[in-house]
Amino acid sequence: MPLNRTETRQTIGSYWEASVPQARLDRQLIGNAVFDVAVIGAGFAGLSAALRLAQAGVSVCVLEAEHVGYGASGRNGGFCCLGGTKLDEHSLIRKFGLEEARRFVAYQVAGVNLVAQRLDSWGVHADRHSKGEIYLAHRPKDFAGFQAEAAFLKENFGIKARVLSKADLDAEGYGGPTFHGGMHLPYGFALNPMAYVQTLADQVRRAGGRIFAKTPVTGISRDSDRWHLETPHGLVRTKKVLLAGNGYAREDAPRWLHGRTLPVMSSILVTRPLSDDELSAQGWTSDTMAADTRNLLHYFRLLPDRRFLFGTRGGIFENAQSLAAMYDRARVDFDDMFPAWAGVEAEHSWYGHVCLARNLTPFVGEVPGLGGIYAAMGWHGSGIAMASISGDKVAGLMLGKLQPDDLPVPLRRPFAKFPLPSLRKLYLQGAYWWYGWQDR
Ligand SMILES: Cc1cc2nc3c(=O)[nH]c(=O)nc-3n(C[C@H](O)[C@H](O)[C@H](O)COP(=O)(O)OP(=O)(O)OC[C@H]3O[C@@H](n4cnc5c(N)ncnc54)[C@H](O)[C@@H]3O)c2cc1C
Repeated sequence: MPLNRTETRQTIGSYWEASVPQARLDRQLIGNAVFDVAVIGAGFAGLSAALRLAQAGVSVCVLEAEHVGYGASGRNGGFCCLGGTKLDEHSLIRKFGLEEARRFVAYQVAGVNLVAQRLDSWGVHADRHSKGEIYLAHRPKDFAGFQAEAAFLKENFGIKARVLSKADLDAEGYGGPTFHGGMHLPYGFALNPMAYVQTLADQVRRAGGRIFAKTPVTGISRDSDRWHLETPHGLVRTKKVLLAGNGYAREDAPRWLHGRTLPVMSSILVTRPLSDDELSAQGWTSDTMAADTRNLLHYFRLLPDRRFLFGTRGGIFENAQSLAAMYDRARVDFDDMFPAWAGVEAEHSWYGHVCLARNLTPFVGEVPGLGGIYAAMGWHGSGIAMASISGDKVAGLMLGKLQPDDLPVPLRRPFAKFPLPSLRKLYLQGAYWWYGWQDR
């Protein structure tokens, strides 16, 4: 029996929080302090930057409104994969030329490799699984385009994608009535993101970086050669600042951010562990990370403990009614795509903010007109690898070890303001209807 809607709306909390030991709670900033660099936000980006800075001997603090991993870094699907922009490879070539598009894709691959190397060198397994990821065609016409797309990726980027027919999918454990074929990309792996972000924070502390929890930065002002960061119980004076708040950033800290990013929601449900019979009833036994070909995509994977993780994009307004509708829609989609599990309880469900930009690409660099303030944000819902490597690179810029030209052009464009920023969410609502119609 499918669950009734009230049951599906229950938010029992993040599976990742339940699956890792209680995190260390860093202390709040109380009083005034001076650091060479202050980083705003303790997610993959901010912590990656703080790690490189601390390892270089710079005095660095991370100011976090809540706690390490509170933002998307502790809430995501754990797909460490290529991505970070809403522009596909065709658009990247059109906009930036083949060479820059190649550099950008190589940067994404380097991001995936960086996360793997970190976990290896820190001796952390973080429940890794999945060799690469697979895209599943939700319509026959999407499958019909896969051969040409695979040839395009190989010719232009050297990516060896493999196309799988419906029969291949069934034989390899990707069973589902709505999948018409697949395309596998050999990059990426899945991980427990909370385990990764907590270990990253440990590395920052070990290298001498300070992390302050419950310390939201509420305002930024300048006095002679220092920036002043206001927090509820203290003030930080610093030469350089990194904005790494992503989808959780306050638009007034600094005011430059106002109207330049668009936080939207993504939600995840995780079932109870599935039995052998349940897995074979659905025909899904693969542990490969998967996503469908919709604009408003679904992403899903079988976890090592045989729970099934199912995520959806969408959800614009963060009120009780919209959140309930978002969870209901996710459950309906899950039941349609995996009908053999329609009665299986979701033991965990939660959501988080991803960060979109008008340019549809991230920004990694110094903010124009605000000397000493840098930003590393805007991963468009795919930030495990991208935020990790970009945090490291922006620290290289702050240290003077890298120049802006060392980064691919798509990352170097400061966020443009959205026209009529107060109407951003309404435009997005319109875009979602359009995408939903196109996805049919
Ligand atoms: C449900 C969901 C699923 C996702 N799935 C995937 C996936 O499978 N693979 C993938 O690659 N990406 C995924 N993403 C995206 C990915 O999680 C993010 O891109 C990435 O974690 C962003 O990292 P970050 O460090 O830039 O920001 P965050 O992790 O969001 O951290 C920002 C932090 O800044 C803090 N902050 C903001 N403003 C202030 C302030 N003024 N003062 C102090 N602190 C502040 C916040 O509290 C927050 O902790 C998903 C995101 C969501 C929400």
